[in-house]
Amino acid sequence: MATLTTEKSSHPTPRASGRPVPGLIFGDLWEYDPAPETADPKLKARYDLFIGGKFVAPASGKYFDSINPGNEKKLADIAHANAADVDAAYRAALQAYDGAWGKMAGRDRAKYIYRIARLLQDRAREFAVAETMDGGKPIKESRDFDVPMAAAHFFYHAGWADKLDYVAPGRRAAPLGVVGQVIPWNFPLLMLAWKIAPALAMGNCVVIKPAETTSITALKLAEIFQDAGLPPGVVNIVTGFGDTGAAVMTHPIAAKVAFTGSTEVGKIIMRSLAGTEKKMTMELGGKAANIVFDDAPLDQAVEGIVNGIFFNQGHVCCAGSRLLVQESVAADVLAKLKHRIEVLRVGDPLDKNTDVGAINSKEQLATIQRLVASGVKEGATLFQSPCKLPVRGYYFRPTIFSNVSMSHRIAREEIFGPVLSVLTFRTLEEAVEKANNTAYGLSAGVWTDKGSRILKLSTELKAGVVWANTFNKFDPASPFGGYKESGFGREGGRQGLFDYCKLA
Ligand code: ADP
Repeated sequence: MATLTTEKSSHPTPRASGRPVPGLIFGDLWEYDPAPETADPKLKARYDLFIGGKFVAPASGKYFDSINPGNEKKLADIAHANAADVDAAYRAALQAYDGAWGKMAGRDRAKYIYRIARLLQDRAREFAVAETMDGGKPIKESRDFDVPMAAAHFFYHAGWADKLDYVAPGRRAAPLGVVGQVIPWNFPLLMLAWKIAPALAMGNCVVIKPAETTSITALKLAEIFQDAGLPPGVVNIVTGFGDTGAAVMTHPIAAKVAFTGSTEVGKIIMRSLAGTEKKMTMELGGKAANIVFDDAPLDQAVEGIVNGIFFNQGHVCCAGSRLLVQESVAADVLAKLKHRIEVLRVGDPLDKNTDVGAINSKEQLATIQRLVASGVKEGATLFQSPCKLPVRGYYFRPTIFSNVSMSHRIAREEIFGPVLSVLTFRTLEEAVEKANNTAYGLSAGVWTDKGSRILKLSTELKAGVVWANTFNKFDPASPFGGYKESGFGREGGRQGLFDYCKLA
């Protein structure tokens, strides 16, 4: 960990110039010299659509700006695909499905998927920098989690492509055809891998739309598809806003659609597809509870809570945004948490010491501010890190609300920011009731020394994933998905493959 906490009084003061001296303690935090990651992200000034294996200008003739949320500077022009562009992408995908890809043996498909994984590993630093500049997440997250995990998903699914007889033993698994996919901005490259890798392993072709604020790494991955020699049309990438997404979801060629994003948009899509034969998977919002019992290793739990909501700016659908802590240790845990967030480094996402980077967009920052204001208005107690925020860019202080009640908006609505709502409980039954008292059911965390309690909670909590004495751990072999308004269908593991095939 890059921070050192100690008593302020025992340390020398900074230089008279006011500039912090590297290595000296400033407040409670070591002042470090900036340590920016310097790898060249190799960005183009303009990104076209990727259709039929080539970069093509949009029929609409329109482009929009992709902004670096860390400093509000423009990164590139991104093409805005209209219905005609989406149609061209589907036709290219269908041609590939009816042609080379559809006829290819699984063992040969595996080689392409494996090659994509290797090429992504080769260019990992470049991709990490691009991901951080485009989305605002700290470089240590994109470098140590997003990019390696995206590569891991391609590796894992390359392994399945020639073993499809084992997906559902005794039954034959066949591809669906062309699938349409729309993804959000919180894990741009990783979501792309989650969606594309199982689809390709199963022998489908893809039309995918990244989120409007984070299209760049998707289009960089298209360069890798070209380098890997992936047959034209197997993956097509169309960029744009909700109108483009709607065209991707409703196109008649799509045999199946997969969506990750807000529950609100998920419902719009489900309504628009009601009565069609399209298969669907939806990974929607969440309001995860992290449940801490009095016998938990508290320091470890505090690290898990911080990892679950503050790292990555809370931009995680399975973020542990509600803390349920047993009453007898609540004061202790809250004190530790407050101290911990005071020493989180908030700032330049490209700096290797940064813990909390930039909020993805101006709009998302406004949403967070609005919900935090509602928490104050409804009577919860606010605590924010006193850290300095950069002058330019979209930043928000790590925030903890205590004295929260279940009826407060901050306890019910997805904030998608570095904001934790703390509630208390006395008994296991009360913890379960409060944790399940939400429209969502994506994930939960349990912190306790007792194995029996973990097993009981893992069956009683209505959440797709329950982490025990850890949080936000992922593996391509482990299925992920939700209950209730968090959606349906699973991504990852053998179960994730069921959503990309028909079984005979
Ligand atoms: P978030 O609130 O996380 O930004 P959204 O659900 O608004 O989530 O966006 C997730 C993805 O859905 C983005 O790629 C966005 O462009 C796309 N999208 C937005 N509106 C629609 C729609 N009506 N139909 C299909 N996709 C949409």
